[in-house]
Amino acid sequence: MWEKQVLLIPGPTPVPSQVLRAMGAPAINHRGPEFKALIQEVTVGLKEVYQTKSDVVVLSSSGTGAMEAAVANFLSPGDKALVVSIGNFGERFKKLCKIYGVDLEAMDFPWGTAADPQAVARRLAEDTGHQIKAVLVQYNETSTGVLNDIKAISEARGNHPALLIVDAISALAAAELKTDEWNLDVVISGSQKAFMIPPGLAMVSVNARAWEVAAENTNRKFYFDLQAARDSLKSGQTPYTPAVSLFVGLREALRMMLEEGLPAMLARHALYRDMVRAGVKSLGLELLAGDAVASPAVTAIKVPAGFKPADINKRMREKYGVVLAGGQGKLKEDIFRIGHLGYVQPVDLFAAFAALELVLKELGIPVTLGAGVAAVQQVLAERSE
Ligand SMILES: *Cc1c(COP(=O)(O)O)cnc(C)c1O
Repeated sequence: MWEKQVLLIPGPTPVPSQVLRAMGAPAINHRGPEFKALIQEVTVGLKEVYQTKSDVVVLSSSGTGAMEAAVANFLSPGDKALVVSIGNFGERFKKLCKIYGVDLEAMDFPWGTAADPQAVARRLAEDTGHQIKAVLVQYNETSTGVLNDIKAISEARGNHPALLIVDAISALAAAELKTDEWNLDVVISGSQKAFMIPPGLAMVSVNARAWEVAAENTNRKFYFDLQAARDSLKSGQTPYTPAVSLFVGLREALRMMLEEGLPAMLARHALYRDMVRAGVKSLGLELLAGDAVASPAVTAIKVPAGFKPADINKRMREKYGVVLAGGQGKLKEDIFRIGHLGYVQPVDLFAAFAALELVLKELGIPVTLGAGVAAVQQVLAERSE
């Protein structure tokens, strides 16, 4: 079977061959000087991407592990948390809060829309007794392709002392994120999204205010104790055996990212967003998210009436080798999603739209072959002028 695929899902994302080669290096001692140099270089690079001077620790887990660590380290049983949910990953924060005995208050917005920072501001202003200890929110809600205005949500706290815990797993390095300037206390990211390496690492930035909260935390925890990770990092180590080869991959990926430069990387993702949205519109399909809140990482598209996501995605994969994602949670059967983050090139999007047009035609949906590709090309042509 051919390995070649155009993988356009919102993680895991395609892995550059440089990264794959780097990860094939011989094993090293994770308590030795090579790993110390490795984790130090990785930490410097991460701080640059995070735009922070605070600590960034790396966990050997998927992104959800870091979400769990955030709940376990910064919320004690009985603490009140405001979970702002705009989709499936917001629901995951709620589940974690329940499991850890957090007094959960949900602030839900319809899937496909962004959170209203003013609603957060009003709720926190009401909380004059400062019962709410943390606000938890996604930056990019991967299940709907909506980007929250994290800067505005952070500002919405005013003088309220609640920590802001941001799940930026699919946003970091795809959307602008200024950890320190925006006063984000805890920011979570994951390896298999815009970082272009396989799944298995999760990164967490923690500022001084959040460390103070963690020091008073009363939860039982062991593997996901972030203070242990911070303390080990001082001697160039991790508390337990890390996923060493993924760290090697991360170093290579960070070198690539910093060589490209943050502004270029962000512009590239914004371009992909605009290319995909233009292509979708030209085919007469409906986008889930509005232009103002559209994600630079993933685009959700409503499945034409009478069809299911699998009708499109199965043909895309089996006939054309283009791999797209379905829906999640309550939108499972209503949308399909094109991931366009990380190691993606314009030509991948040309291929995706060429194949999508053929698939729509096969399904009997009226389509002019080439219309989507032309719209996608047009955006690229205008942007490169
Ligand atoms: C991918 C993703 C996660 C989950 O990460 P896993 O690595 O699958 O555990 C959480 N939040 C968001 C916004 C994501 O995109």
